[in-house]
Amino acid sequence: MLLFTPGPTPVPEEVRMAMAGPTIHHRTPEFEAIFKKARERLMRLFGMDECVVLASSGTGAMEACVTNLCRRKALTVNAGKFGERFGKIVEAFGLGHVELKYAWDTPADVEDIKAALADDPDIDALCIQISESAGGLRHPVEEIAAVVKAVNPDIMVIADGITAVGVEPIDVTHIDALVAGSQKALMLPPGMAMIGLSDAAVKKIGEGNGYYFNLADEIKKQQKNTTAYTAPTTLIIGLEKVLEMIEKQGYEEFYRKTRARALATRAALEAIGCQLYPKAPALSMSAVFDEEANMVRLILKTEFGVNIAGGQEHLKGKLFRINQMGLIPVYESAWVVNAVEWAFDRMDRRPYDGMASKVFNEVYYANENA
Ligand SMILES: *Cc1c(COP(=O)(O)O)cnc(C)c1O
Repeated sequence: MLLFTPGPTPVPEEVRMAMAGPTIHHRTPEFEAIFKKARERLMRLFGMDECVVLASSGTGAMEACVTNLCRRKALTVNAGKFGERFGKIVEAFGLGHVELKYAWDTPADVEDIKAALADDPDIDALCIQISESAGGLRHPVEEIAAVVKAVNPDIMVIADGITAVGVEPIDVTHIDALVAGSQKALMLPPGMAMIGLSDAAVKKIGEGNGYYFNLADEIKKQQKNTTAYTAPTTLIIGLEKVLEMIEKQGYEEFYRKTRARALATRAALEAIGCQLYPKAPALSMSAVFDEEANMVRLILKTEFGVNIAGGQEHLKGKLFRINQMGLIPVYESAWVVNAVEWAFDRMDRRPYDGMASKVFNEVYYANENA
C-alpha cells in the first residue's frame, strides 16, 4: 500500500534501519554525539539562530511557541483546522486573542494583518500556518512577516511550518519561531517536534514559561547536546539519518524535485477534470474538491493500493488530499495520478486514456532540472 497522505509520510528504509538498533541511554557520550550531529543538521535545515527538539507531536511545539513567546495578546489566522488550533491554544492559556478568519481555500491578506495590528497595539505575537493542511493552502507568510516587523519588530512571528519545512526553501528573515513535525516532510514516525528560533525569540523567551514546554530550559540543555527530559532517542537517530540523506542529495535538488512533483501532480489532476480546492495551493499536497471524494479514495485504496487523505469538518467527503512531501520516488506519484484517472473511469466520469500519466511526466521532466 502506498501511503500518500499529507502526514504521516512513509519512512525511508535507510532511516528505519538506522532506528532498528538497540535502545541506547540518553545520558551517555554516545547519544550526545548523535544529538550533536542531528542538531547541526537541523540548524542547517532551519537556517535560523537556534533550534530545539521536543518529544511531542507538532501541536506541542505550537503550544510551546505560544506560551513562551506571547505575553499579552496573539493575532491568529484561522483558515483551517490548524489555524483554528493556534486560537484554541491561546484561549486555553487565557491570553488575549484576536482571530482573523478565512474560508479554508483563501490565503490571509496582508492588508487584514496590517489593520488588525493597527487596531490593537497589545498584540505581541502573530501565529500563522505556512501551509494550512486542512485545505492544502499556502499563506503568504514571508510577506506578512515583513509587514509585522515593519509595524513593530517586537511582535513575535510564530510560523507553523509543519507541512512547509523540508518542502520548500523558507525565507526566515522575519520569522521568530518556525515549527516542524517529524511525521510530515521529514519522513519520520510521529512523536517529535522541532522549532527553529531567531535571536530575538531566544531573548524574548528569557527564563521561559511553563514546565515541560519551558523553552529556556530546553535551549540551555540542547546547546550542550542533551535534553531537559528523556530524549526521543530513536527519533533523533532517525532525524540524523534522514537529514544526512537529504544533505547528500543537496537541499536545492531536494526542493526542486518536490516542486516538480507538486506541479506535475496538480497539472495531471487538472487535465482529468479535477478542481483544485485552494486559491493558493501549497507545494506540500494537492487538495481536490470533489463531491465523490469518498468513492475516489475507496477505489484508490481497494483497487490500486494507494492511501490518500480526505477532508475534515465541512469538507468531510468533499475533499481528497495527495501528499507531495518527502523523498518520494517519482514513479509513485505518477502511479497515484494514474490511479485517480482509473477511479474516474470506474465511476463512469471520464473514460481512461492515460492523460494523467502523460501530463504528469511532461510537467515533471520539464521542471525536474528547472
Ligand atoms: C499535522 C499538522 C500539525 C500538527 O499536528 P500533530 O498531530 O500535533 O503533529 C500542525 N500544523 C499543521 C499545518 C499540520 O499539518
